[in-house]
Order: sequence, then structure tokens, then C-alpha cells
Amino acid sequence: MSQLEQTLPTRHPSPTTLRASGSKSEPTLTSPDQQQALLMQTAKALLAATTPEDLWTAVLTAARKSLTANRAAIFFYDEERTTCPAAEGLSPEYIMALCENAEIAPSSRLRQNPEPIIIQDIYSDGRTAPLRPIMAAEGFHAYVAFPLLTAESTLLGSLITYRDQPIPFTADDVAAGQTLAHMTALALHNVQLLNETRLNLIREQQLNEITRTLGSTMDLPTILGQVLRMTADLTGADAGLLGLVIDHQIMTFYPHNIPESIVLRPAPRGRGIAWEVVQRGETVYVEDYPSYHLAQPKWIKVGVKALMAVPLTAADTCLGVLVLFNLDNNRRRFTDRQIALAEAIGRQAAIAIQHARMYAEAHQRTTALRNALARQAELDDLKNKFIQTVSHELRTPLGIIHGHAELMGMGALGELTPRLQGSVDIISRRVRMLIDLMDDLTAMLAAETQELRREEVQLDTLLYAMLDEYRLQADKTNIALHTDIAENIPPILGDITHLRRVVDNLVSNAFKFTPSEGAVTLRLLSEENQVVLEVADTGMGIPEEQLGRIFERFYQVNSHSKRQHGGTGLGLALVKEIVQSHRGDVSVTSELGAGTTFRISLPVDNLWPMIPNK
Ligand code: ATP
Ligand code: MG
Repeated sequence: MSQLEQTLPTRHPSPTTLRASGSKSEPTLTSPDQQQALLMQTAKALLAATTPEDLWTAVLTAARKSLTANRAAIFFYDEERTTCPAAEGLSPEYIMALCENAEIAPSSRLRQNPEPIIIQDIYSDGRTAPLRPIMAAEGFHAYVAFPLLTAESTLLGSLITYRDQPIPFTADDVAAGQTLAHMTALALHNVQLLNETRLNLIREQQLNEITRTLGSTMDLPTILGQVLRMTADLTGADAGLLGLVIDHQIMTFYPHNIPESIVLRPAPRGRGIAWEVVQRGETVYVEDYPSYHLAQPKWIKVGVKALMAVPLTAADTCLGVLVLFNLDNNRRRFTDRQIALAEAIGRQAAIAIQHARMYAEAHQRTTALRNALARQAELDDLKNKFIQTVSHELRTPLGIIHGHAELMGMGALGELTPRLQGSVDIISRRVRMLIDLMDDLTAMLAAETQELRREEVQLDTLLYAMLDEYRLQADKTNIALHTDIAENIPPILGDITHLRRVVDNLVSNAFKFTPSEGAVTLRLLSEENQVVLEVADTGMGIPEEQLGRIFERFYQVNSHSKRQHGGTGLGLALVKEIVQSHRGDVSVTSELGAGTTFRISLPVDNLWPMIPNK
């Protein structure tokens, strides 16, 4: 036999004996069968409850009916305090008094031993002594406190049923009460789970809304201002602001609801809550701001109570802090859920800030680049004009000098001594070089600025016309000249003077960089809408790493080249400019000591746009 059964009446005494003499209302006690039926009904109601309120109504009604109680209440115990979420028949004064004195009430023993506490008579039971006057004033006579235990046997609180008359609770009553308390704890757990799920869903929706705002096309300041307001709304904060790290300071932006008396100043490095958050990259939550060690008087003065400061972290860098306050004097704190929500928003906002900054930086760079390119184009233009003017101004006097030197050299102005003859020849040759240089520069400008004529050019005819001159050169240098010119070469559209320069430059290079006994081969063929010219030699070759540079203006492979072979290093640059302005390509292959081949391909297609109505 259990201890309970020994101390409690085992059966319901008959109603007559139970009726307390002189009482106004005389309850008919509920029988065990009725209790059973009532509990079954309640179980259904409890399972159907979706909010704690639904739950309380069902539990308290069932408790009163099945235990024939006049009053019933639910109490919650957390570590610090006792609260009463629902009660029937108890005065607010009694509830408040009990909550404030919970530790001296008999039900406080549930914390040590979670067995029902049965007080059959508050006047004679020693356990009620400390609170007897309040209990007596409330007017109940007997009560039982049933523990509300979770599945893991954690005490959540109690369900208490009260009888106003001195009618003792039976073992059946206690058993029914225990079952009810058990069902209540389970149902509460279900409601909490449901709530949790519902809150998670709401949180998800809220976050989605914020993510949408952050991803919108508005400018960043508008977005952040809006997000701050939304976050304050969602977390129930009275006010908030955003601090961003800029130049070693935390600058404050978008204050929301901050009292006007507060003057916002940048926080210098290392000082205050904001820096603590930025440096550690972790949230700081202060429940009682005035007693916090980093609290500032100006914030205490406007009534800041609870404060949370969450980091704005993107890619491991903390860009700033989102601060939310509760300003009033009530005890409203931020829940874990609200803090987690603010943290999630902080992460999203940080990403948006980072994107906006990257975009601004890219934009700035593009603008700088555009300006630099415009300046470059301006300088190029100036340079071209300068070259044009100088070569134009030099060409006439050089022509005159050249003419006179030729006349003198031919003896037309009188007999020359051998020394004079030698000098005049040098003058003649050097002036010729200068005139060639002027021509190259002018041609390069023309190719660069697209000032080319466009007429049908038959490259095979052009080559044949130049061959005589090349043969002379070949004889003079003792180099074999081979040609391989295909038939039916299609015409291309271009500037014959410039194309002649291309061939001339390539062939002159081939002769220049090939020792005697070597060979130079000219090949002309057509393939896939291209006319291809190859100039190959068996000369010294070009080191591989220099191949990319020989087309640069004034570039020569080695410094001795100029002394040995003359020239200015403009020839190939000119070749490239001219070929490209004809929408063609130039390439080179070379092997040191074995020879070099330049290959030019010019598109035949470039004819078509020039032929009307075909
Ligand atoms: P310019 O043509 O202005 O009189 P250049 O012949 O030196 O002077 P480019 O024709 O531009 O200038 O050639 C650049 C450099 O490329 C030459 O100095 C030479 O070093 C190298 N090069 C060009 N063609 C050949 C080749 N066929 N064989 C070996 N090296 C060559
Ligand atoms: Mg050259």
C-alpha cells in the first residue's frame, strides 16, 4: 500500500457525511467513474489545443469538475520567479502575494520532491503556517498542488486545485489530479512545439521580406534605413541605429526613433559596445544597460534598458554593428528568438553592404579607366598631329637637300675631289634615310587613323612588279631569291602604296637579317577567302621570347642591331598597323640560326561591301 493510500480516505465517503455543516453550497463529489469520463473528455480538448489559452481553459474546467474543486490555478516556476498564467476563482491579490512569497509556500517543496502536496486543512497543517493569514483571507480550506513534469522530469510548475469547504481530497481525487497534471504537461509541450514551428515559419517569412528589400534595386542608404525600421518592428525594439566601420571609426547611420536629445558622434577605435562587437564579431546583449560597465550616461538618461548589438559580418569581416534598444522603464527584454532574428538580418545586411561597396568601387574604377582612356586618346591625337606637322615641315627642306646632294654627287655642279665625293655620298644616303623615316611615320599615322584608300589590288601583280628590284638586291648580297606565286589570286580591297610598304619591309628585313649564301623565299597563295603572303628566310632567326615584341614601335632585338643593320625598328610596327587596318593578320615563326617566316593574310571578303548591287 502506498503512502498516499495510507493517509488519504480510499473511497469517497457518502455525500451526507461529506457535507460540511453550515456551508452554503454543498458540492456533490464526482465519482471515480465520472472522473474517468471527464479525464477522457479533457484529453481530447487538450490534444486539440493550439494555444496556451485554449489549454488553460480546458485544464482548469476539468480540474474543477473532476476534483470537485471550487478554484484551480496553474503556476510556472522558472529559476528566478513564479508566475501564474491562468487561474479560476482566485483573487489577483492572492495570486500576487503567492507569487511574491513562492519560496515559503508549501508548493515550493515540489522543487525537491515532485509528488503531489496535499493540504487537507490549511488551519491545522503545519506547512501552511508562513502563509496561513493570506490563505485564510482568500477563504479556501483544502488544496492539492500537482507537479507539471516534462517527459524528462523537469518541473515546469504546478496545477493547484482548491476546496473552500473542509472536504478532504481522496486517493481517487489525487490520482485523477495527477493524470490531469501529466496530460497538461504533455499538451503544453505540444503547444510549445507548435508555437515554435509557427514562430519559425513567421521568422522565415520576415527574413524573406528583409532579404527581398536588401536585394532590391534601391540605393543602399534607403535600403538600410528601411531594414533598420523593419528589424526594430520585428524584434519589438523601441529604437535602433546602424554603425559602420569607416576610417577606423564607427560612424552612425540611419537612427530610428533615437530621442532628439542624443547627439550621435563617431565612436573612435576601441571604445564602447559597438567596438566590442566589431572586434569580437559577436553579439553583445545587455539586459540592464544602466548597470553595464560600458554604459554611457547619455543613453542611461534617455532610459535605455535592454540593448542588443549584433555584428554585420560578411566573408569573415565585421563591417559594423546593428544596435537595438528598449527605451522604456518596463522589464521588456529581448528574447533569444529576437536576438537570433537580428543576427540573421545582420548577416544579410552585411552582404548587401559589401555588394554595394564592391559595385561602387567597380563603378569608380570604370570611370577612372574611362577618363584615362579618354586622356590617352587625347594624347595620341596630339602626338599624331605633332608627327604630321613635323614630317610635313621637314619633308620639303629634306627633299631640297637631297636634290642638291644628288646633283653634286652626279658632278652636275662641277668636278668633286674624292674626299668631297665621299662626303656628298654620305649626305645623300643619310638624307635618304631621313626621308624614308618621314615616309614610315606618315604611313603609320595613315594606317592608324584609317586614312587608307580602298581599291582593288591584285597582290600577284604587285609582287611581280617588285621582283626586279629584289633580284638586284639578292645578287648584290649573294642571297638566293625564290618565288612561289600561285595563279588566280583573287583581288583584295586596299591601299596599294601601303601594301607595297608591307612587302618591302618584310623583304628588306629578310635580306638584312640573312647572311650571304642564304635564301629568301616569297610565297603567295589564296586559301579560304584569304590571300596569304609568306616571306621566309634562312637567316639568323629571332629568339622566342622576343617574338611578341618585334611588332612594337622602335623595337629591335638587340642593341647591336641598329649599328650592324641600321634601321629604326619601325618597319614591323608599320607592317602590323597596315595589315590590321586591312582587317588582316600577321604572324611569325622563327628558329634561332635557322630562319624566320612572316605570314600575312588579308581577307578577300573585304571586297564585297564595296561592290554595290551585287
Ligand atoms: P626599320 O624596319 O625601321 O628599318 P628594323 O628592321 O630594325 O628597322 P623592324 O623591321 O621593325 O625594324 O624589325 C624589328 C626587329 O625585328 C629587327 O631589328 C630585328 O631584330 C628583328 N627582325 C625583323 N625581321 C627579322 C628577320 N627576318 N630575321 C631576324 N630578325 C628579324
Ligand atoms: Mg625592317
